[in-house]
Amino acid sequence: MTNLETLVALAKRRGFIYPGSEIYGGLAGTWDYGHYGLALKNNLKNLWWQRFVTGREDIYGVDAAILMNQKVWQASGHTEKFSEIFQTQIGTGDDAAITYLRPETAQGMFVNFKNTVDSFHPTLPFGIAQIGKAFRNEIAPRDFLFRAREFEQMEIEYFVKPADWEKFFEYWRGEMLGWMRDIGLTSDKIHELEVPENDRAHYSKRTIDFEFDFPFGRKELCGLAYRTDFDLQNHRQASTVDLSYYNEETKERFVPHVIEPTFGLDRIILAVLTSAYTEDELGGEKRVFLKLKSELAPIKVAVFPLLKNKPELIAKARTVFNSLKAPTLGRDPDRSVGAITFDDNGNIGKRYRRQDEIGTPYCVTIDFQTLDDDTVTVRARDTGAQERVAVGELVDKIQNKK
Ligand code: ATP
Repeated sequence: MTNLETLVALAKRRGFIYPGSEIYGGLAGTWDYGHYGLALKNNLKNLWWQRFVTGREDIYGVDAAILMNQKVWQASGHTEKFSEIFQTQIGTGDDAAITYLRPETAQGMFVNFKNTVDSFHPTLPFGIAQIGKAFRNEIAPRDFLFRAREFEQMEIEYFVKPADWEKFFEYWRGEMLGWMRDIGLTSDKIHELEVPENDRAHYSKRTIDFEFDFPFGRKELCGLAYRTDFDLQNHRQASTVDLSYYNEETKERFVPHVIEPTFGLDRIILAVLTSAYTEDELGGEKRVFLKLKSELAPIKVAVFPLLKNKPELIAKARTVFNSLKAPTLGRDPDRSVGAITFDDNGNIGKRYRRQDEIGTPYCVTIDFQTLDDDTVTVRARDTGAQERVAVGELVDKIQNKK
C-alpha cells in the first residue's frame, strides 16, 4: 500500500484534488476537486444514485437546502449535543436569524418525510436519498480527504415498520457491502465494527461502522445506523406537524422507524484512490498506475498522434478522436466509449505515464502505419499490452473490453 503523501502528490499533479485556497496558503480541512477528481466524484455519485434510487422503485430523491430553520437543529438534538456547528445568519440587521451550515444531510430528508408521503403515496418500507454537502467545525482536519470541515455525504433514510428494523438493518448491511464491491473496494480491506452503546450517536440504537484499511490505518469509511423513530418523533413534537404514516391495509397509524446507510463521498474517493494505486515494472522501468474500474475512470480512452510535429498524423488522430467522441456527445449513445481525451503533450512515453496515473483504461495511438492501413495501436493500462486494431473496430474493441 502506498503512503498518504504519495497519493496527495499524485492527486495534485494529475488534476484530481488540490488543497483549498492554495495560493493563500490554504485553508485547513478544505479540498478543491480538479477536472479529473470531479469526474471521478461524479462517476461515483451517478453509480450510487443509479443503484439506490433510479434502479429501484422504493427510494425517492431529494436535494434539500443546506440552510435550514434553526428549529430543525434544536429538534434533532444537534444544538444541545454539539458545541461548534458552523453558525451563520440569515438576513442582515437586527432581525437576522441564526442558523448553521448543516452538519449532516439526514435532517433534510426527515423534514421532507411528509412532503414525500403526500407527493408519492409510498407504501412502507420506502426511503429518501440525498447527496449533498455537510460541514463540521468541531473536528481537527487531518489525513487528506478523510477528515475535512466541508465534505459530501450520500445518505438514505429508509422508513420501516418498527418490528421490521432488524430485517432491514441486515438487508442494508448487504447492500452497502455490495456497492463497495461494485466500485472496486475489495472485502479484505473492509472491516465491520459493531459500535458499542457508549460510542454511538445520541439517536442510534445500533450502528455498524464499515472500516477501511487507509494508508494511515483502519478507519471508518461509512456507516449503518438504526435511528429508531428519534428524528420523526422529535420533529413531530417540535413542529406540531403530524409525521405519522397510515397503513391503508391494516388501518394502523404509526411513526416509522429508520435505518440509515450513510456514505462519506470524500472518504469513498480516498478509499478508491488507495485501492487503485498500483506500482509495477513495465519494460524494465518502474511505473505507477491507477487501477480504477472502467466505470469510475475519469477518462476511458486517450487518443495520441505518435509524433506531434507531423501534421498528417495529427490530422488523422483528430479524425479518429472526433469519430470516437461524436457518439459520446449524444449522437449515438450505444456507440459511446465514454469520456475521451486528445493528448499530444510531450513524447509518447510521457503520455502513457500520464494516462496511467489518471487511470485511463485504453490509449489509442495513431502512427505512420495508420495512414497506410487504417489500423491503430490500442494499449491496455493494466498490462501495458499493445495490439493493432482497425479504426472501424475500435468502438467494439473498447466497449467489449469495458
Ligand atoms: P468519525 O467517527 O470518523 O468522526 P462520524 O461517525 O462522525 O465519523 P457520521 O456522522 O456517521 O460520521 O457521518 C457519516 C459519514 O460521513 C461517515 O461515515 C464518513 O464517511 C463521513 N464523514 C464524517 N465526518 C467527516 C469528515 N470530517 N470529513 C469527511 N468525511 C466525513
